[in-house]
Amino acid sequence: MTGPADTLSVARTVDRCTVLGPGVRAVVWVQGCPLRCTGCVAAETLPFEGGTPVAVPELADRLAALTDVEGVTLSGGEPFAQAEALAALLDAVRERRPGFTAMAYSGFRHEALRRGTPARRALLGRLDLLVDGPYAATRHAALRWRGSANQRLLALTGRYAELVARITAEDDTSVGIEVSMGADSSFSWAGVPPVPGFRETLEARLEARGFAPRTESVPDGRRTS
Ligand code: SF4
Repeated sequence: MTGPADTLSVARTVDRCTVLGPGVRAVVWVQGCPLRCTGCVAAETLPFEGGTPVAVPELADRLAALTDVEGVTLSGGEPFAQAEALAALLDAVRERRPGFTAMAYSGFRHEALRRGTPARRALLGRLDLLVDGPYAATRHAALRWRGSANQRLLALTGRYAELVARITAEDDTSVGIEVSMGADSSFSWAGVPPVPGFRETLEARLEARGFAPRTESVPDGRRTS
């Protein structure tokens, strides 16, 4: 499934994150995924209905203005379900920030994406890093930026090739999650859960203490539900 090139359906964004890829990165979670992995930690992003439509130039402006981040991580949902618009987004950001890096998660294997539609190949061709393959609960593992042992961290350009090559079995470990608490008793979190059932446990404990899941800002100022 591919949407129009000028609009994205977005579930959530954050401007700064240190647990979903190298350095400090913006993150865009797109809305909608055609897969249904058992144990998916982002169930609310799976339906293709319900996201917030965001104009690509508007999101590109916002990302390019984040001068303290080195790139963006595309997650979801399934980024390659909106490949055409995401490829256009990266082109638009790089017109002003040529060195802006791009990482994406996908439930599809790299080999399948390489044989995919022109739009999917276009997005693939704009990525520096790819975490590929579906989450497999039976192979859950606390790995660097990945949730199960079948998922690979692939350097698609030279930008992070050395970093990836330096990861050894000993330090291929979880980098944890980031939890953000608001003054209004809201909370949100980002990252790859290191243990199965993490999300349910965290949210239950925080909600028992009076915190509520935060409704996240999206780039056009509207909010997801
Ligand atoms: S591919 Fe990712 S978002 Fe889609 S169901 Fe699997 S884990 Fe969830």
